[in-house]
Amino acid sequence: MAPPVAGAPVDPVPPRAERVLTLTVLGCDGSHQAAGGAASGYLVRSWASGTAVWMDAGPGTFANLQRFTDPLELSAVVLSHEHHDHFGDIEDLITAARWVYPFERDPVPVYAAPGVLGHLTQDVEGILAWHEVGDGDGVDVGDLRLAFSRTDHPPVTLATRLEGPSGALGYSADSGPDWSLSALGSGLDLALCEATYTSEHKGPPIHMSGSEAGSNARDAGARRLVITHRWPTADAAEVLAEATDAFRGHVEQAAVGRGYSL
Ligand SMILES: [Zn+2]
Repeated sequence: MAPPVAGAPVDPVPPRAERVLTLTVLGCDGSHQAAGGAASGYLVRSWASGTAVWMDAGPGTFANLQRFTDPLELSAVVLSHEHHDHFGDIEDLITAARWVYPFERDPVPVYAAPGVLGHLTQDVEGILAWHEVGDGDGVDVGDLRLAFSRTDHPPVTLATRLEGPSGALGYSADSGPDWSLSALGSGLDLALCEATYTSEHKGPPIHMSGSEAGSNARDAGARRLVITHRWPTADAAEVLAEATDAFRGHVEQAAVGRGYSL
């Protein structure tokens, strides 16, 4: 794996053998990127095996991905749904791999919800190995087991459970409140759940408020909660306070470059 770029934020944790699964936030703005920000995207790594998964590729996240890893070292990409704020930067990986980088590896496996491929402007042939996945599907990537659950968000949107030797991470992707993190199974060591707005300033019911995210994670028995996908117009402190209150425990708000280990 390529060394980190000088000046880049410090990696979430040293790759100690006993803490082998890390989550790094590449972007966490809801529905569109804020000024200078990035929409949804995360890097999940299992250090013991060198497995690296780019999970959602919202605008701005390809730039941040390069701060933490060589994109050509990716084990796989997961794209939760066909809304642009979750897949747009996959185009940048294709461009870089086809025209800029010396691309001398097998195509990068992509596991995507239905519909995403049809939005791309470029041919993926030779660059990406595209696999459409759906509710209930599972796939192994290195030493990670990925399992998908359809959420309460149109069009078809897939939450992901990523389970490695040291723990299980559950990512809600986008969802309204009529889907439960418990659909990803029990024993979530960390829930990465969308909390788009406050209860007072709700938008369309295809997203969750801070309060709904907190109670959702609590009901699912998640040990830790990180909230994400906050609209740039939503008050960060209020969304966090709601989530903390409902979760009845410590909650963290995702921020670019922030990392978690489990
Ligand atoms: Zn979104």
